[in-house]
Order: sequence, then structure tokens, then C-alpha cells
Amino acid sequence: MATTLVDNIGSLVTNDPAWGGLLGLIPDAAIVVEEERTGSGTADGAQSRSQFQEVVGRVAWVGAATDAPPADRRIDAGGRAVLPGFVESHSHLVFAGDRAEEFAARMAGERYAAGGIRSTLAATRAASDAELSANVSRLLDEYARQGTTTVEIKSGYGQSVADERRSLEVAAGHTPFTTLLAAHVVPPEYAGRADDYVAMVIDEMIPICAPLASWIDVFCEQGAFDADQSRAVLTAGQRAGLGVRVHGNQLHPGPGIQLAVELGAASVDHVCHTDDADIAALAASDTVATLLPAADFSTRNRYPDARRLWDAGVTIALGADCNPGTSYTTSMPFVIALAVRELRLTPDEAVWAATAGGARALGRDEIGVLRVGASADLVFLDAPSHLHLAYRPGVPLVHTVMQAGVLR
Ligand SMILES: [Zn+2]
Repeated sequence: MATTLVDNIGSLVTNDPAWGGLLGLIPDAAIVVEEERTGSGTADGAQSRSQFQEVVGRVAWVGAATDAPPADRRIDAGGRAVLPGFVESHSHLVFAGDRAEEFAARMAGERYAAGGIRSTLAATRAASDAELSANVSRLLDEYARQGTTTVEIKSGYGQSVADERRSLEVAAGHTPFTTLLAAHVVPPEYAGRADDYVAMVIDEMIPICAPLASWIDVFCEQGAFDADQSRAVLTAGQRAGLGVRVHGNQLHPGPGIQLAVELGAASVDHVCHTDDADIAALAASDTVATLLPAADFSTRNRYPDARRLWDAGVTIALGADCNPGTSYTTSMPFVIALAVRELRLTPDEAVWAATAGGARALGRDEIGVLRVGASADLVFLDAPSHLHLAYRPGVPLVHTVMQAGVLR
């Protein structure tokens, strides 16, 4: 098995508590990456990246450069800061068309409501599988160029059994992290009959789509699905073996957070409207609060109270929420800058939330961290430290990305 030494790292974020502090920083660091040839019999089965790559690079050693062992090859990081690849736990990449006009109208004063999703629904249904897949590839490439090495992808712009299934098939061709967002909006053919749509999702869509996904998700929001409808969809997903994610408390106060905690959700996402009970429930749970401030930026929505959430002990993830309506960005560095400036996380907290936090939201411990055995997902910054991600907003600081041991 070939080994590669990455040395001359000016500052390394490991997210490994063994190195101290929140980020486990190591100055003047080195990493050794070992290639691992994967067979069909990996322990984590369908969730493994092995279905996408024959050779997976894993971290074999981490430490001070002066202690580094010899290796077959060497990469000189040139004094750059290196951190784990960003982990995006919330994206909607299977779509066609865009909503630039809607964005312009919103910026001119129109308010965002959940219904804009329907225009993407029509465009997505009319697109071919190849067009949808090419769009996912294009957006994943954007994500990777800006340092994101893991991306969860939701369905949700099909909203019929056949279109949700093919959305998940397209997504599963690109990532092992797929989510059935069956209840995104009530599609036009069910207008005024949300309960009938929910029944169809439960009786017809989930049985066919569940094998293609790891999680079920619902948009629990005024204008989308209420608490009872959301609970019915989510528990049906659980019975089909899926984990739970929830779009909750984005546009209004509501039951999404409490429902997510009640059902043991992996994550509740947006979380812009929180009261004391919501925060207490999250803090006492294993449910991650995934904050998506680029969506709030793009809709002039209220930002989540990340400072209070973090200080209460809630586990926070940051995501870009790439989608054509409310957050058409793939830039985790932009999200980090927003989280620091607008959500009042510290730069260290924001970097942790965009890496280790995202991994928690996906229930994974081999990504978002650089320690022995972790996936060799490395971001090299044209900067001396991770602080520059928030300090230099809008600047393309990502120099090189290594994804599972492979330089892109
Ligand atoms: Zn979303």
C-alpha cells in the first residue's frame, strides 16, 4: 500500500480533541496518507465510499513535521493551512432550471414563501436523467473547488413516485448520502389536498424510494406540512428503515424542532425561530442543529441564534443548502464567513461546525476529522491559518483539495 507524506503544513486543523482545544490545532504539522484498496466486503456496506472509488486514502499518521515517518511520496504543503474537507449535510442538487427572476423579485421586496419550489418542480420533471445528473456533477465540482469533500443530496423536486425515485437514483450515482424529501411542498396536482398527498407518500412513495435513501426529510412549515402530517411521513420513513431529518423553524416559530427531537432525528435544519423550550430540547438531545445562513442571507430571513444554541450545548453543523430557489451557493467558506459575522460563532466554532459538525449531522466519524483511520479529505488554504476563511470573505483561498487521498 503506497504512502504519501504531506508535510510543511503551517497549521493543521485536526478536530481531534487529543491535540487540545476545539480544533485540535497542530503547528508545523505533517500527515501520512495511506492508500487502501477496497473490495466489495467493507464493513459499512452501502454507506461506504468504496462504491465510488476502488482506492480510498486514509490517514495513517498525524503529528508534528519533525516526527513524521518516511513515506513513498511527498507533498510539500508550502506552509499552507490544512483542514479537513468541509462536510455538507444539506443540499438539493437534483433539479433543473434556475430561479434568478424570483431572486431578483425578492431582493426588490417580495417575501419568500414556500411555494416557489413548484417552479423547480415543473422544470425538474421535464428534464432527462442525463440533464439532472450533469447538473449534480457541475455543482459537486463547484463544492469541491471550494473545499467540500462530502455532500448529502436530497430529492424533493419530483414529488411523484417516479420522479422522486429517479431523483434519488441520480443522487445515489454521486454520493452515498441521500435523503428522500418526499414532503417538500404539496405538488400542484394535490393542491388543497395535502392529506391525500401525505397518504400517497406513505403508501406508495416511501416503499419504493426507501431502498435508495438513508434518511427521510420533511419541510415542516406554514405553507408546507404541519406537525401531524410531518410526523406521519417521518414515522413511516422510520418504519421503512430510514433515519430522520427535518426542515424546521425556518420561516416561522413551529413544531419542527420538537418533532425532530421527539423522533430522534439526526438533524433539524434551519432553526431560525427558537424559543427556550426548543433550545432546551435540542441541548438535551443528540439531534444536530444544522444552520444554513446562506439561505437566510438570500431570502433576507432572520438568522438563527447560533450563539445561544452553541452556549446551551447544542451540536451545530453549518451547510450551504445549495438549491436553485433560496440558496444558490456551494461555498462553505462563504457560509463560514456568514456564521462568524452574522451568527456570532467564533471562527474556530464555524470551522468546526462546517467540518466535524456536518459529519455529526450525517452520523459519521471518519470524515470532518483528521486522525488515524479517517478519510484523507484535506483542504489546503492559500493562507497561514483557518482564521482567514472568515477574515477574508469572498476570496478564493482554497488552493488544493484532496478527496479520499486523491488530489483533485
Ligand atoms: Zn433544504
